[in-house]
Amino acid sequence: MNEKIALITGGGRGIGAAISTTLARDGFDIWLNYLSSDMQAQKTKSQIESLGRQCLLLKFDVTCAKSVEDSLSPLLENNTPFVLVNNAGIKKDSLLIWMKENEWRDVISTTLNGFFNTVKTVLPFMLRRREGRIINIASAAAHYGVPGQSNYSAAKAGLIGAVKSLAVEVAKRNVLVNAISPGFIETEMLQGLPIEEILKTIPLGRLGKAEEVAELVSFLASDKANYITGKVFQVDGGIG
Ligand code: NDP
Repeated sequence: MNEKIALITGGGRGIGAAISTTLARDGFDIWLNYLSSDMQAQKTKSQIESLGRQCLLLKFDVTCAKSVEDSLSPLLENNTPFVLVNNAGIKKDSLLIWMKENEWRDVISTTLNGFFNTVKTVLPFMLRRREGRIINIASAAAHYGVPGQSNYSAAKAGLIGAVKSLAVEVAKRNVLVNAISPGFIETEMLQGLPIEEILKTIPLGRLGKAEEVAELVSFLASDKANYITGKVFQVDGGIG
């Protein structure tokens, strides 16, 4: 049995790719989930393999309970990831007055149903092994109002609530559950946003790098974080 596996949702590109390669650097083999970006997932897999670790590509939609279970259950019969990173997320920005029902539902579903579906599938195995780390990528938008993001803010604030409850439920079995709230991180998700205006709101005066989020995941996945659970960490250049 492999003791060091990390499962990362949305791990093919952006912050998820940085998390995948950083945890590979730390010695984890990677189960890399993605939805549609085949080439970027393949590229990240090659980077992981060049670090000497194994990478299994798992193409499934985190919002679909059946797909999550069908993909993971056969693997979980033989191996249990020590780390699950719920990173998959989307944004569909619109002022609430104009927001379509599907824009509300899809954003919330990706974050919250994604969390529920992956945790429901993996958690029983972590509890049995009496160890595990569930690290969840929330957002600064959960903490501060952002016009046009009521769906995204609701999803990420809901995720933080779920993290706090779950952390208390599973602490006795040594499964630690935390959240990270990134600020503005340089990925495709920022496309179309007014970057010059955004920079004025960031005390450190620049966007964050995906690797700067990944290093906190690395810490929370390590033995250095054995006494940390139910917490939210902001990586946002000092916003707010
Ligand atoms: P990207 O848009 O660059 O990447 C999103 C990732 O999520 C992709 O890998 C995508 O897979 C995956 N994904 C989306 N929907 C699903 C789904 N239904 N099932 C499986 N995978 C899915 O975003 P970032 O890297 O910037 O964001 C990563 C996380 O960080 C998100 O949760 C986001 O909300 C959060 N975040 C980002 C911030 C930023 O400034 N960039 C700030 C705060 C939080 P594929 O490409 O294969 O479709």
